[in-house]
Formats: sequence, structure tokens, C-alpha cells
Amino acid sequence: MYRTNTCGELNLTNLNEKIVLSGWVHKIRKMGGMTFIDLRDRYGITQLSFNQEVNSELYAQANKLGREWVVSVEGVVKERSNKNMDLPTGEIEIIASKINVLNESKTPPFTIETKTDGGDDLRMKYRYLDLRRSVVRKNLELRHKMTIETRSYLDNLNFLEVETPVLIGSTPEGARDFVVPSRMNKGEFYALPQSPQLFKQLLMVSGFDRYFQIVKCFRDEDLRADRQPEFTQIDCEMSFVEQEDVLNTFEGLTKHLFKSLKGIDVPDFPRISYADAMKYYGSDKPDIRFEMKLVEIKDLTTDRNFMVFDSVPYVGAICVEGAAVYTRRQLDDLTKFVKRPQVGAKGLIYLRYNEDGSLKSSVDKFYSEADLRKWAERCNAKPGDLILVMGGETEETQEQLSDLRLEMASQLGLKDKNDYKCLWVVDFPLLEKDEELDRYFAKHHPFTSPKPEDIHLLDSDPAAVRANAYDLVINGVEVGGGSIRMHDSELQNNVLSVLGFSQERAQEQFGFLMDAFQYGAPPHGGIAFGLDRLVSLFAGLDSIRDCIAFPKNTSGRDVMIDAPSRIEPEQLEELGLSLNKLKK
Ligand code: ASP
Repeated sequence: MYRTNTCGELNLTNLNEKIVLSGWVHKIRKMGGMTFIDLRDRYGITQLSFNQEVNSELYAQANKLGREWVVSVEGVVKERSNKNMDLPTGEIEIIASKINVLNESKTPPFTIETKTDGGDDLRMKYRYLDLRRSVVRKNLELRHKMTIETRSYLDNLNFLEVETPVLIGSTPEGARDFVVPSRMNKGEFYALPQSPQLFKQLLMVSGFDRYFQIVKCFRDEDLRADRQPEFTQIDCEMSFVEQEDVLNTFEGLTKHLFKSLKGIDVPDFPRISYADAMKYYGSDKPDIRFEMKLVEIKDLTTDRNFMVFDSVPYVGAICVEGAAVYTRRQLDDLTKFVKRPQVGAKGLIYLRYNEDGSLKSSVDKFYSEADLRKWAERCNAKPGDLILVMGGETEETQEQLSDLRLEMASQLGLKDKNDYKCLWVVDFPLLEKDEELDRYFAKHHPFTSPKPEDIHLLDSDPAAVRANAYDLVINGVEVGGGSIRMHDSELQNNVLSVLGFSQERAQEQFGFLMDAFQYGAPPHGGIAFGLDRLVSLFAGLDSIRDCIAFPKNTSGRDVMIDAPSRIEPEQLEELGLSLNKLKK
């Protein structure tokens, strides 16, 4: 028998029991005549003890074991004299009577500890060893629980999990598709789904009424800390619903996850329009753990011969509480921060509201004290606060102020990872204009319904049309997004034509959807949550990588299995993709 118990469960209630444990040699401590071994498995660590005087042969055998060897040990549970109250098994130890070496191990390239000495690259190359570390394993346990809770919550509400295909056709959903060549249909390609969007809508036409799927999706985008080329969505769709119904259902799911996984009761989620999110936070995913809202002060800055502000449509400020003590050097660093290409501002103006009530700004030459006092008043500033001001094109500057706001929150320690602030951003614009290409793109996706009261603007003022689209945002992270869909083929056609699809292309790309809409499509809408983002938020991680068992690096590589990789010329030939043909 390999084991009677796991390494995480024995305690004083098991005293004197004869047991067998199997696991990995975590640590060996040799202390003159006594050797202690920490034996580890998925469930925990149990101390084994070997006494030279009692059993010198076994003691010698124990001293020959190495880190990460796999052993099975027989022994008896005894109370420990030196207790470790940090471990559930810390009050007992096993007086071993037999060791069975099941497998030896090379010395691992990094320590299997909470804080390891292995760098990122090494950990990824030996991810199977990295996954032995309890910190990483805990994230995957959390992920498992989240999917179980999600399934049971949605199952209780009559949602049906349906699998949709992974080999589909390329559809325009914003990102680039990963494609797969078809051997049987040379010159043709499947695409991997960016989401099951069209299938879940077709399931509604089929009358499935409530669908969900925990599903892999694929997007060939440049990678960042919160993006992976393959990621998992909790994808959902419902029939006979309005926006309110979808929001309430999935607010319910989110609250349930917080309660069941973290024991937290989160209050009802506030709702904010996209327009207000931009106005007050400069972002469509505002972090509302802290205030520091954007304040418009353009009217207070004009006609004082300060060209920088006179020449732009927007001047905005944030008031940073208690930061008047920032030194000249710190302010210079903030200016450098906003001038970085990632932020892209031209400069930064400051106004210190000193503790003694005096004002000092970087534009004292242009503005009188009375002027500056008005700025401070508009910003609701108190003595001790620092006001930071930027001017430029409206949306661009709001976004730059948002970056600055987040940076200030980081510097002042306002981003408490254990404080969860959820909100819905609603009333997104339906379309987004690409000025360079001079055409409109769907802000969410081409199947999102315009608000009925805005439909009449589709032709005359497309940019003003708002959509029945919504995002769930938690602590500044877009955790989910969805919309009410069009279910009327005529309206769908109309929107596709505003998006620049000719009749023929629309038919070619979405003919099946338009056809389906002519066979009794119910009103429907849905949402998709990014599972990886949700798990990493719950786990307090900075990157989604550590809640994915085998993630890719920022170049999209799996460095452990070394993928992607070249394939044999014969394989290429068979796919109709021989190199000679490709070169042409
Ligand atoms: N398919 C959408 C997405 O992946 C979500 C939705 O509209 O339900 O973002």
C-alpha cells in the first residue's frame, strides 16, 4: 500500500496510529543523531523523524535521501516536542520504521518554496516543478472552485452548458484570428474562436433559452500581463431578457462567487454610464477603490495668455489628497511619467495647496492667486493637497489623467488588494470611429443592439448611437462584458452596412445568422466573464499567468514544450502549404 493518509491531515487525534505516507522529500534537517524530513504532497507537509540510537540502519538510509525524491514511509504518529503551530500537522511527527524509495530526483533547478530562488524563465521552463509550490497550486485550487461554484449557480438557474466547436470560420470580432489549415480542403482555413458569440446566439434561436459554457477562446494579440493568446471565458446567453435581467443575473453570480470563495458580502454594484466613466475617471474601466475624480477646469484657465491651455478644448485636474508635500524632484518624476510614450502627454502642471493655506503652482507667471484659488475650490481641495493639471484633446487628455490617477493611487498605497469594488459600466457607444481609415467599427461586436431610442441616429449621426452594452469592472479590471443583441435581420443588416459590409460580404460572413434570424429568433442577450482575470483578482495576483497551469510567455511561447515549432516539409506539403508555394 502506498499510503493510508495524506501529508496534510494527521494531528493529535491520530496519536499512536500506524500509518503509511507517500510524497516528496521537501526538506532534510540533520541534527547530530537525529534527522528530520519534511514529506510533502498536494495536501501538506508532515515531519518524519529518524533516531540513530533507535534504528541506525534506517537513520543511515534517511540521510542518503535527496530533495524531491519520491518516497513511501511507514511509521507511527507521535506528539512532537517542538511544535510548529503554523502547520495543521505541526503538533505531530512520524516515527518512521521503514522507507521505500519510489523514485530518485535530480536536484531541482530552483527551490520548491513559497519564495523560490528561480527566475520567471526558469520557472516556466520547469513549470511542472513550479506547480509543486503551494502558492501556485493554491491559485489552481481557487480556479477549480470558481468553476465548480459557477456551474452549480448557473445550473440552479436552468442554464445549460453546451459545447460549441473550436474549428470554425474566421469572423471579424476585433482581434486577429488564429487559423488552422485544412488538409481536406486545401487552401482553406479554419479559425479558432475568439468567443462562441455566434453559436450561442444560434442556440437561442434553437430555443435553448439559457446557455453557458466555460470555454477556451483564442485571440492573436500582442500580450500583456492580463492577456494570453488562449484564455478561458465563462460565456453566457439568455433569451427573453432585457439588459436589467442580464445585469441582475450576473451580479448575482459575482456576489455568489465572492461569498462562497472569499466569504465577502459585496454590496449592490453601482452603475455608471460610459460617458460619465470617461468624464470622471478618464477610463471605461474605472477603479473606484479611491476617489480622485477628474475635474474639468477649462473655463477657469482661459484668457490668461497661457497658450498651452488656451489652444486646447479640454483642461482637467485631479486633486491628490495630502500630496502637497511632494518635492520638486517627485513632481519632475511625475512629469516624466506622463510624458512616457505609453501615456503620451506633453506636460504636467501642478498646484500645491500648502498646509499653511498658501498656493504655489508651476504656472504662477500666468495665473493670479485668485485664479488658482478658484481651481482649488472647483477641485474641492484642502490645505495639504496637490492638484495636477493637464490639457489637450478631450478623450486623449482624460485617458492621460486616468493613467496619472492610477499612478498616484499606487504611489499613495490606495490600491488595497483585499478591498473589492465592483461596478457596471453601461450605455457604451455602439460604434467607434477609426479616424485614419475613416470608418466605423463596432465598439463591442457587430451583433450588439443599439438602444431603441437611438436607432434613428444610425444613418445621420452614427457616433452618437448608444448600445445596450455593459461591462463588469472590478478594481479597474474589465472582468466581463456583454450586450443585448439584435434579433431582427433587417436591423442587423442595417448595422452591418454602417460598419461598411456590402450586402455580399455580409451574406458571405454572416449569412447563416441572417438566415437563422428569419426563423423566429427570440430577443436575447448575454455576457462573457474572463475566468483568468477573475481568478487572478480573487487571488490578488498581478498577472493572469499564475492562475493558468501552463501559460505562454509574452512572446506567445510555451517555453516548456517549446511551442510554436516548425513542422516537417511533408506536413506542409500535405496541407498544401509547402515552403515553395508560401514563398511565391
Ligand atoms: N462574445 C463577447 C466577448 O467575448 C461577450 C458577449 O458579448 O457575450 O467579449
